[in-house]
Amino acid sequence: MTTPVLSLKGASVRYGDLTAVDGVSIDLHVGETLGLVGESGCGKSSIARAISGLAPLSAGSYLVESEDVAVKRRSNRRFLSDRVQLLFQDPVASLSPRLTVGALLAEPLKIRKTFDSESWAATIALLQDMGLGEQFLSRYPHQLSGGQARRVALARVLTARPKIIVADEPTAGLDVSIQGDMLNLLRALRDKLGLSYLFISHNLNVVGRVTERVAIMYLGQIVETGKTGLLFQSPAHPYTQALLSSNLTIDPQRRRERIILKGELPSPRRPPSGCRFHQRCPVARDICATLQPRLETREDGRAVACHFPLTGGTQAMTG
Ligand code: SF4
Repeated sequence: MTTPVLSLKGASVRYGDLTAVDGVSIDLHVGETLGLVGESGCGKSSIARAISGLAPLSAGSYLVESEDVAVKRRSNRRFLSDRVQLLFQDPVASLSPRLTVGALLAEPLKIRKTFDSESWAATIALLQDMGLGEQFLSRYPHQLSGGQARRVALARVLTARPKIIVADEPTAGLDVSIQGDMLNLLRALRDKLGLSYLFISHNLNVVGRVTERVAIMYLGQIVETGKTGLLFQSPAHPYTQALLSSNLTIDPQRRRERIILKGELPSPRRPPSGCRFHQRCPVARDICATLQPRLETREDGRAVACHFPLTGGTQAMTG
């Protein structure tokens, strides 16, 4: 296995007394798309903020290209933004309404002092690759469709020539056909530019289409991670199974019985004792309320945090 381009090791993010991310480890490899999935409030957006440098880690470490980001940023403020860019969830809100598309694309190049005829020609070429001709340069964000605004936001992010893009719900709110175009574009750009993506979404259909690996989060922790196909075919963690069963269209060939989770997502301010999922888990036993399961790697390469993992949709242990 190659050295990861990005690694979080035991990373935590705290906001006051709330631990939004609690001891998460993630590796992202060159050219890979890793999905990060979970309900709202599970901590996935806090991971996006930490990786983009918008939220400091309260514990753990963060490496990009094997360099400690916290150390490198002391001497080079642009160390992170030269390598990692965040693609915002709401692109129109991230684009200043008073600037034309041309000005929006020139602005980050000027700020980085990389604006010249060569970088501008490359930006125009990129825009054209995305199906937006030069006539778009004089338009304002409100004159763009949702799909066009997302392309402009993506082109703007790419002016920094990053290695890693953190895409937070990049297709939310788009029609299914435009969503498909956007996913194809992201994949084509990844292959052409050698990018790696951390792809954050609660839409399992989208995650199933674009990611090679996936990490499932629950209440600030990763509960299962591994190859997307394997997890989607035979989830080992009861929470992964419940998420997949709530989204039947993900695998129309394989009818899953829908598992309705009991109760609401507990508050991360007061996470439950033992396994954080125990109050909602359909197969919880006594030990689950007191002993927290560790994320352990199994023979098939995935890692699962559960005392009684499932195999192929059935429970492995009976005693
Ligand atoms: Fe369910 Fe227990 Fe596994 Fe937690 S450890 S997911 S409560 S079976």
